[in-house]
Amino acid sequence: MPEFDYDLYTIGAGSGGVRASRFAANFGARVAVAEERYLGGTCVNVGCIPKKLLSYAAHYHEEIEDAAGYGWQIGERKFDWPTLIANKDREIARLNGIYERLLTGSGVTIHKARATIVDPHTIEVEGKRVTARHILVATGGWPMVPDIPGMEHSVTSNECFYLKELPRRIAVLGGGYIAVEFASIFKGLGSAVTLIHRSMPILREFDADIGMTLNAEMQKKGVQFRSRVTVRNVEKRDGGELCITLSDDSTLACDLLLNATGRKPHTRGLGLEEAGVKVAENGAVLVDANYETSVPSIHAIGDAIDRMHLTPVALAEGMVVADRLFNTARRTMDYANVPTAIFSHPNAATVGLSEAQAREQFGEVKIFRSGFKALKHTLTRNEERVMMKLVVDAKTDRVLGAHMVGPEAGEIIQGFAVALNCGATKAQIDATIGIHPTMAEEFVTMREPVA
Ligand SMILES: Cc1cc2nc3c(=O)[nH]c(=O)nc-3n(C[C@H](O)[C@H](O)[C@H](O)COP(=O)(O)OP(=O)(O)OC[C@H]3O[C@@H](n4cnc5c(N)ncnc54)[C@H](O)[C@@H]3O)c2cc1C
Repeated sequence: MPEFDYDLYTIGAGSGGVRASRFAANFGARVAVAEERYLGGTCVNVGCIPKKLLSYAAHYHEEIEDAAGYGWQIGERKFDWPTLIANKDREIARLNGIYERLLTGSGVTIHKARATIVDPHTIEVEGKRVTARHILVATGGWPMVPDIPGMEHSVTSNECFYLKELPRRIAVLGGGYIAVEFASIFKGLGSAVTLIHRSMPILREFDADIGMTLNAEMQKKGVQFRSRVTVRNVEKRDGGELCITLSDDSTLACDLLLNATGRKPHTRGLGLEEAGVKVAENGAVLVDANYETSVPSIHAIGDAIDRMHLTPVALAEGMVVADRLFNTARRTMDYANVPTAIFSHPNAATVGLSEAQAREQFGEVKIFRSGFKALKHTLTRNEERVMMKLVVDAKTDRVLGAHMVGPEAGEIIQGFAVALNCGATKAQIDATIGIHPTMAEEFVTMREPVA
């Protein structure tokens, strides 16, 4: 009779939890996972995937207009939000099924219920207690709602994926990537959009040229910016209209307020502290380099540890844990040069250090930057411009960061992430032959550093 019911019990079947559970089961462990809401977690249900589908939908608006310059005459245009949401929901349901089959196919037991930790080896789920040699906390994150009078009238990104109708006027509160992406999506789909954010430029955590370029490009596309202000209060009027009072005493009327002011680890009421697990003030589970908590039998990964809120990072952390507990423990996680994209309109993407971070860490840096209109738009009336930037260590010539705002930026920067991980120098980038005619070739032809 085994000492424990399971070798691994994972709480949360999101990106990290599913990956760790499957890998552990494939290494021969007896694994169970609890999921209280939706298989696949945030990314599949209310994050990356539905967000990108909505972003594709929003891009058609501009593409139809751009087509005129190429001789296409397109008749009456009509966008139907319920069709988009129904098609999106069908695809998400298909993905939920795939996740279920991936888990059961690997021999993982699924408990579709909330689980809590009772002690270092015991979990309560579906009214029963089960035991496990190891417990993995992979409970993800949840939107924060700032303490502002009337914020109960706002929605978060979670609800935006299920709105019954497209809002005519939407105000988006926040300057991070989720705020910027939703502002672009709603604008592209036809809403009047105002982005309210307290700092300039937007996207503070990225290279400043990304925020500044996007600010300008999004304004060209019609997004209104209310910068350096915060929301003082929100009032709901008869008929449902929201009246937002800002910190500069101005007011703003809208039909929907999206609160995108950040996310925090989803760990409240999980029984962590009671089991002896140390947790930060914002709920982040404190872990060491191997994702072990202050209780050796309990590990934590993904948004629950509040390091990098990205699906590929949660996946990688999950694989490190499964490998360490049930295999050769050869995998490690390096947080340097993790690339990421912002699916705003236009897209943006980044890898490595921003110019400010590079100056702080390396002192003297060389900056190569280019701004141009893409070939495609020489025949359209679209004024969109592309920004590309390389940050280079002046002493060693090593490329420290690559940043871009422009179509398919994520597709281009993914390749640069490989180059940066290989320690590419600017001389090696210069020696690389471009693909002509592409936007990407500009990255290998920037010769003169900016003054
Ligand atoms: C709008 C939005 C857009 C995003 N876009 C991107 C993007 O483009 N690219 C990218 O890389 N990342 C993106 N992310 C971030 C990405 O979704 C997360 O970083 C990733 O999902 C984290 O994975 P995780 O496994 O830590 O948690 P999650 O995927 O959040 O999974 C946690 C799971 O645990 C479950 N759970 C919680 N508590 C319990 C409990 N007590 N019992 C049982 N189950 C429980 C939850 O229901 C959830 O399913 C986006 C996020 C949002 C919100």
